[in-house]
Amino acid sequence: HLWDKKVRQSCTPKRENGLVVLVTGAAGFVGSHVSLALKKRGDGLVGIDNFNDYYEVSLKRARQEMLLKQGIFVIEDDINDAALWSHLFEMVRFTHVMHLAAQAGVRYAMQNPMSYVHSNVAGLVTLFEACKNANPQPAVVWASSSSVYGLNTKVPFSESDRTDQPASLYAATKKAGEEIAHTYNHIYGLSITGLRFFTVYGPWGRPDMAYFSFTRDILKGKPINIYQGPHDKDLARDFTFIDDIVKGCVGALDTAGESTGSGGKKKGPAMLRLFNLGNTSPVTVPVLVELLEKHLKVKAVKQFIKMPRNGDVPFTHANVSLAQAQLAYKPTTNLDTGLKKFVTWYLKYYNVQSTKSTRRLL
Ligand code: NAD
Repeated sequence: HLWDKKVRQSCTPKRENGLVVLVTGAAGFVGSHVSLALKKRGDGLVGIDNFNDYYEVSLKRARQEMLLKQGIFVIEDDINDAALWSHLFEMVRFTHVMHLAAQAGVRYAMQNPMSYVHSNVAGLVTLFEACKNANPQPAVVWASSSSVYGLNTKVPFSESDRTDQPASLYAATKKAGEEIAHTYNHIYGLSITGLRFFTVYGPWGRPDMAYFSFTRDILKGKPINIYQGPHDKDLARDFTFIDDIVKGCVGALDTAGESTGSGGKKKGPAMLRLFNLGNTSPVTVPVLVELLEKHLKVKAVKQFIKMPRNGDVPFTHANVSLAQAQLAYKPTTNLDTGLKKFVTWYLKYYNVQSTKSTRRLL
């Protein structure tokens, strides 16, 4: 490949015993932040992203540019390209794969079900197959989701709670991924860590998520739809700031044991772990909107609507004691502080000019 040299350069650690990581979904929200954090501490890494148009591609390109400035190369390809994986594993001895590429979002699945199967199921199997065949086998850390708890009503959610009631196809594919991970660990000795993220938000976030689209619409003076759950109760989410999630991801990489090969004959059984990464303090959507109004200094036009059956769940709430004990994970940013950082980024990125009492989009 023309880019082989760039991949080698990008993958060379700048510190002793630095990790060598293949980051999928590197042009995505979480992937770009994790990539920057790894680079900053001197690890070697290369990204893969197919730059699909699920949301604005220009934002993914801007993140790619930001990574490139730090010397991180992102290969433009699909994770289902098995030939790409074997080429990369022949060229570079990756210690870890940080797998963050996926078809995200719960509502999009109603119109585009197969894109979830393609990226979250077929893509994951292609990745595990490649890792199984690699020599040495890397340890895999990948993103599952809080959505696997589905319609579970016992809060806060612990890793051992039931996950047999997915409310969306997205959730079902993430749950399928957890089962697939179990198989590859059991038969092929891959070290695998699944991370159940809870509603991640922050600078460089995803435009399809409520906090982001609300910001856009509030600034435009467009009405925003606030869904209400059963018995007119407000929906609540355990919003988790991106920097906390990044620390959890890096903690998972640092503590991932080695893969041990088929049957675990060489060094005993490989590690298989699953962690919640949340904030532990759910906030209702009306409170989220109030905080946005405060930081944007603009009043929202609100429409309260009964929640349609679109894949959303009424609430999420993480118990993170397992991640705290094993990954030293401790969320430190509350929603007010995190949203302030998001709004500051948003206004700058989209070049929103502020006037004395109102703001207008240029
Ligand atoms: P994102 O959409 O910003 O990032 C995913 C990236 O993967 C995108 O840049 C996309 O172009 C790329 N991608 C998708 N399918 C691909 C494919 N087949 N081949 C190559 N690249 C592909 O999403 P995110 O918010 O950064 O999410 C990262 C991971 O975390 C995903 O697995 C997501 O399901 C999971 N997650 C996110 C949240 C959240 O609140 N952001 C919550 C729970 C779980």
